[in-house]
This record gives sequence, structure tokens and C-alpha cells, in this order.
Amino acid sequence: MKQLVFATGNRNKVSEMNDIIGQYLPVVSMGEVGCTEDLPETQDTLEGNAVQKADYLYDNYGQIDCFSEDTGLEVDALGGAPGVLTARYAGETKDPVANMTKLLTELGDTTQRGAQFRTIICLILGGEKVLFEGICRGHIAQQMSGTGGFGYDPVFIPEGYQQTFADLDKNTKHSVSHRGKALRKLQTYLSAK
Ligand code: IMP
Repeated sequence: MKQLVFATGNRNKVSEMNDIIGQYLPVVSMGEVGCTEDLPETQDTLEGNAVQKADYLYDNYGQIDCFSEDTGLEVDALGGAPGVLTARYAGETKDPVANMTKLLTELGDTTQRGAQFRTIICLILGGEKVLFEGICRGHIAQQMSGTGGFGYDPVFIPEGYQQTFADLDKNTKHSVSHRGKALRKLQTYLSAK
């Protein structure tokens, strides 16, 4: 175990991961092992996509220790949609404002606004595969608010708060978020290795 390859080409994500689990194993981007292609994400569940991305790196880049992450927003009144389609809900441009506008329009003025963010992390370590899940319950705001964060943060209000993720500071978001929860499980697992 020398390093963990993260199934992403996004340097910001890699640096955020290193802040959290780098003390156990340095995290590097998939570019470091020569992978610059788009990873396949053709499954119809978050679990399926996370496993597919990690398997792809493991199978094609020398059976390396690696992990992947997949996140979706699951809205109760929409039967769990957009779910696996969260990034491209309003189209292939993956535009966050278009995505949130579509979501607010779909919900209209319904009072049933319960929702959750769900993150799946797939780790392959020494050839063994383990999944970690992090869920953050909350509800969809009536309108966008806040300038922090990214993606759907301006419309998601986590349980126990009155403000959206985009209104909350980064540390508060990290302490309750889906990704924070999944990462803490990964951290606990790695620290016991
Ligand atoms: P990905 O799995 O990180 O690519 O995320 C899939 C989709 O979920 C993208 O549209 C992201 O913008 C959105 N998303 C993931 N995590 C968050 C979050 O913490 N806040 C808001 N949106 C998120």
C-alpha cells in the first residue's frame, strides 16, 4: 500500500481527499498512472457506477489500489429522481443553474420537499473491494440561495439547519454532508488497516 489512485482527473477533488485521508495513504489522481480518458459511467445506480469506475482503473492500469466516488440527489416526491442522472438532469451540458431550475419547476409549490444526497465510495485495496455509503437528509428550498459550494448546494437545506448548503460555511457542510460521512467511513477503514 503506497498510494491510492482516485478515479478522477479533478485536481481540486484530489487535494480535498488528501486533506482528509492523505495521512493514511497519499491520494493521487488517475492522471498519475497515465489515465486521461473519461471513465465509463453507464450503470443505472450510484453503486453500479462507482464500482464500474474503480474496476476500470484496477483492470486497465495494473491492478492498483484505487477508489471512486459517485453522488446523486434523491428527491422523495420524484421517486428518488434525479438520482443517477443528477449531473445531467437538465441536459448534457451539466449546467447547475439549469439543473436546479428544472428541479424547482418539477416540484412547483408542493410541500413534500424531502430529499437526500447519497454518496457511494468504492475502494479496491489489495484486490479487495469495499463500498462505503454516506447519506445527508434534508429538503429542497423554494428558491436558490447562497453563493458557496457547487452543484445543487443553493437549493438543498440539510436536516437541522434553516440555510442551504450554499449559505453554510465549508466546515459545517463537511461535518453533515453525504460526502463527509462516506469519507469518514473510508477513513476509519483505512486507519484500521
Ligand atoms: P459527482 O458524482 O461528484 O459527479 O456529482 C454528481 C452530481 O451531483 C453533480 O451534478 C454534482 O454537482 C452534484 N453534487 C454532488 N455532490 C454535491 C454536493 O455536495 N452539493 C451539491 N451538489 C452535489
